[in-house]
Amino acid sequence: MEFKTLPHPSPTPAADRTAALVDPGFGKLFSDHMVVIDYVEGKGWHNAMVGPREPIALDPAASVLHYAQEIFEGMKAYRQDDGGIALFRPEENARRLNASADRMAMPHIPEDLFIEAVQKLVAIDRDWFPSVEGGSLYLRPFMFASEAFLGVRPATEYKFVVIASPAGNYFKSGVPAVSIWTSEYSRAAPGGTGAAKTGGNYAASLVPTREAFNRGHDQVLFLDAVEHKWIEELGGMNLFFVMDDGTVITPPLTGTILPGITRNSLIQLLRDEGLTVRAEMYSIDQWRADATSGKLLETMACGTAAVVTPVGTVDGKDGAFTIGSGGPGQLTNKLREQLVGIQRGAVEDTHGWVMRL
Ligand code: PMP
Repeated sequence: MEFKTLPHPSPTPAADRTAALVDPGFGKLFSDHMVVIDYVEGKGWHNAMVGPREPIALDPAASVLHYAQEIFEGMKAYRQDDGGIALFRPEENARRLNASADRMAMPHIPEDLFIEAVQKLVAIDRDWFPSVEGGSLYLRPFMFASEAFLGVRPATEYKFVVIASPAGNYFKSGVPAVSIWTSEYSRAAPGGTGAAKTGGNYAASLVPTREAFNRGHDQVLFLDAVEHKWIEELGGMNLFFVMDDGTVITPPLTGTILPGITRNSLIQLLRDEGLTVRAEMYSIDQWRADATSGKLLETMACGTAAVVTPVGTVDGKDGAFTIGSGGPGQLTNKLREQLVGIQRGAVEDTHGWVMRL
């Protein structure tokens, strides 16, 4: 598809940009441009544009504002050690967006168009990479129902948008182990939307997340909604449990958790290491027992934002327990180095995961 390109008429002055890029934090600083593509039923995707980042005009009856027909992705562009720029498995983000679209009764966006949109934004905003070591350009593609209509049925008009946000190094001072709070709330029920990356799942996680923060924890842990005993995932990360016999367990994709792209990559890297990975149910009680007996060596949390990070302590209504020494374990460190190395072009990409721009 032809993209119309409208460079920003008054881009951020270079000195201001450079100053902001020293310590961008996460999610609060944005680049100068965005991509917008329109969809109308019967006509398909059209009006692809790379233009100045600006507010989006919406009719007050736009379906997204009422019935939350919205899906999104989270991915990063990485500065390579040789100065180039690369995306990590962007086709997986395109596929997952379309899987989310299926669940939310929204149209697919062709994978090529999704990738082209992301590439175009990174190219025009290539000066927005953080200067801090380990920084990256976080990319947020999303799609929402823009049709002005209050009936409850799938909308006939949508917008696909991509914005970019420079992100600092999550591991500024080494690798902090995350402390997690086991929520009594449920995130997703069988037959619900848990496997889709849709805003509503995150809206439902805000009260439990606030509770975790208020108690001094970094992340919230969700258990299954039916028996309230099986471990599902954290607010924004998947989990892996490393046992002393060389097996690694990760909760299965039964429809209530997000199929993380980092999760999928780690399964591959663990198998490359000769370890046995099993996607199977693991209960909170078993976790506590295995951590206490020493059978469980490490617990890794993984996602685009934090890559691979150790879980240090787990708290909840039955009291707290600590994993290993409470700090990063050997395998967690090794896998993080491998994955970061692949993403930055320092470790050979044997799986063809890196797409250089
Ligand atoms: N679970 C949830 C609920 C998430 O929001 C994320 C972040 N996208 C993940 C897991 C990890 O997914 P990924 O590895 O694709 O970033």
